[in-house]
Amino acid sequence: ALFESIKTDALPTPTPTALTQDGHAIHLGANIASTAELKSLSNIHWHQIDLLRTELLFLGQSVLPDAARQQTTYQTFARAMHPEAITYRLFDFGSDKQLGKSEEANPALGWRGIRSGMRDPKLYQEQLTALLNVAQNAPIKLLLPMVNQREELIWFLELLEPLLTQFKLPRPQLGIMVETPACAWNLANMADLIDFISIGSNDLNQYLFGADRLDSQLMTLYPPLNLGLLSQLKQITTVAKQHKLPIGLCGELGGDIKALPILLGLGINRLSMPVPQLPHICDAITKFELSKCRSLLEQALKCHTNQELDNLVSEFLQTHS
Ligand code: PEP
Ligand code: MG
Repeated sequence: ALFESIKTDALPTPTPTALTQDGHAIHLGANIASTAELKSLSNIHWHQIDLLRTELLFLGQSVLPDAARQQTTYQTFARAMHPEAITYRLFDFGSDKQLGKSEEANPALGWRGIRSGMRDPKLYQEQLTALLNVAQNAPIKLLLPMVNQREELIWFLELLEPLLTQFKLPRPQLGIMVETPACAWNLANMADLIDFISIGSNDLNQYLFGADRLDSQLMTLYPPLNLGLLSQLKQITTVAKQHKLPIGLCGELGGDIKALPILLGLGINRLSMPVPQLPHICDAITKFELSKCRSLLEQALKCHTNQELDNLVSEFLQTHS
């Protein structure tokens, strides 16, 4: 019923791509975590979900629905975005996204993302069953949260392969969130097993600085765009380019105008962000030249303080608004 209410054939064909002044295409997708957000996406006629936070769809429920009921939920999103592939992030329960009450002393450092899947394989098995059922009629991409090292990817592939055989489906595009420094440093060693990366700047910043992402006061010490993160992003994008991996970013930074020219300069050409940011970021991109963003990045990498970096970017934005 929801599908009927949000999708009509009368909507214009959306173009979730923005062109820089010098003609480079930047793909823009949405971060979605509810049917309400799906509706707001449809309202602006945008047809791209590059991060579906699947765990948040079920967070309010005391028990996780079985595969059949999960499938019904995913189908709603798949139908609304058809024929575009949705990027389904596999469950990232734990840390700030607890299904029940956490018994852990440090949930952010505990059982979350793919680790919870490895501890309780039924979690991902059921979810994959639901998603592969969806994949019979709609294109899907899979995105794994909190991957740190190759062993975790191998565990996942061993779980996925027999299911693909059972469903007689080819392997969907598979990506990993790059959201820990370990993942960044191990990226070269995982590149042959994946099709794309999506940088999770929220967690990457949290784990880079050992600073709780939910503590806004603490976060004032480490502004969203800071030199430590910039240096890590430079390393990630360099490795990804060496291995010809498409590079996306889906943390809050993807919707941050201030970070935008730097992200483009780094060669990130797929940004996923909260729905309200999409029109603004789309508009801003058309005012930039990629070549100038690259020069800005070179200057940014020479800054010594976050304030210097901030001033540099502010000046750039003033001349490109
Ligand atoms: C991130 O960590 O940047 C991210 C996009 O994932 P989430 O915010 O859902 O943890
Ligand atoms: Mg994350």
